[in-house]
Amino acid sequence: MAFNKKTIEDIDVSGKKVLVRCDFNVPLKDGHITDENRLIGALPTIKYLIQNDARVILCSHLGKPKGEPKPELSLEPVAERLSEMLKRKVVFAADDNVVGENAKRAVRNMKDGDVILLQNTRYRIEETKNEDSFSKELASLAEIFVNDAFGTAHRAHCSTVGVTKFLSTAVCGYLIQKEIKFLGDAVENPKRPFVAILGGAKISDKINVINNLLEKVDVLIIGGGMSYTFSKAQGHTVGNSMVEEDKIKYAKEMIDKAKSRNVKLLLPLDNVVTDKFDANAKPIVTETEDIGDGYMGLDIGPKTCKLYESTIAGAKTIVWNGPMGVFEFKNFAGGTFAIAKAMSESNAATIIGGGDSAAAVNQFGFGNKMTHISTGGGASLEFLGGKKLPGIEALNDK
Ligand code: AMP
Repeated sequence: MAFNKKTIEDIDVSGKKVLVRCDFNVPLKDGHITDENRLIGALPTIKYLIQNDARVILCSHLGKPKGEPKPELSLEPVAERLSEMLKRKVVFAADDNVVGENAKRAVRNMKDGDVILLQNTRYRIEETKNEDSFSKELASLAEIFVNDAFGTAHRAHCSTVGVTKFLSTAVCGYLIQKEIKFLGDAVENPKRPFVAILGGAKISDKINVINNLLEKVDVLIIGGGMSYTFSKAQGHTVGNSMVEEDKIKYAKEMIDKAKSRNVKLLLPLDNVVTDKFDANAKPIVTETEDIGDGYMGLDIGPKTCKLYESTIAGAKTIVWNGPMGVFEFKNFAGGTFAIAKAMSESNAATIIGGGDSAAAVNQFGFGNKMTHISTGGGASLEFLGGKKLPGIEALNDK
């Protein structure tokens, strides 16, 4: 896919104050970062800017403080960890209003190659409303804007889009470039057979993705909670499984669309069911697609695993988003594990679309066996759904 946005390598950053929007929205437990993938993903851009004598002003959101300071959502632990990772001091500008006296002073005191990190941009109520007042304040700190926050590229906020109104030089960093390359190549220029695997709770979150991917793939594999709406649409019984009644018609349309485009649409042949939604519930394997009264499907069954594994083994490009079952419960993690393992053993280009599937792949220890694990769940879904991402659209064209 032709990527037509300017990158940090297309501009001169030396001696310039560069505001970099990163995605430091990392999980925290008792003030400690429990998954550093997003920090690791941000390092290449930060290192390039340091090496090229820029004055690097980092910003990000963390969680949902909803427009007010929440100490537990301060970015201070990120500044500390980044200092260790970069082996140089990352000055934390602890302003509750983000662009306050600390930030301004820190910027004034910067020398070429220095790095500072602003406070959580969502401490400001204007941030998620993309209001000019805060965009202007952010822009006033710098001469250049770099967006490298793939995980929030699908949101038009002050720090992703608004700021580009006030900083005419706005380019992307290496992480966004890499994400678009892998996701874009997979969808637009795949080696075939191209297999997409979709799972997770709901069809309604993935309507565009299913529709768009049916125009690109050779095989679409469906699992997880969303498979029961498809199953019901085909006339099977689903017991108490998760079903979106208002999406049955859509599921039928997608089954027809797959037929008319000669796309193989694979749905579970059997399921692992139980009678209550509980981590210790007893798993029972069904003989067929049908699920009896009083039971709910929480994972794909062994016959289905075999079919999906052999399909994966024959693929040249695989994109996966969404678990095959309630993988958080050990008794119902088997299907998601089987997919992750089969992908890790495949020679295909293997792309994980972020979110829960990324968490599952890392949890099972297959992370380093995949071609690309996206840092953005929502953003990669919107991209796979064929949508343009506003945080990327707003950047300068080449
Ligand atoms: P999503 O965010 O749509 O990718 O959904 C991920 C969530 O879907 C995970 O928390 C899974 O536990 C849940 N999930 C997957 N399969 C099922 C199922 N059969 N029944 C209920 N929840 C499911």
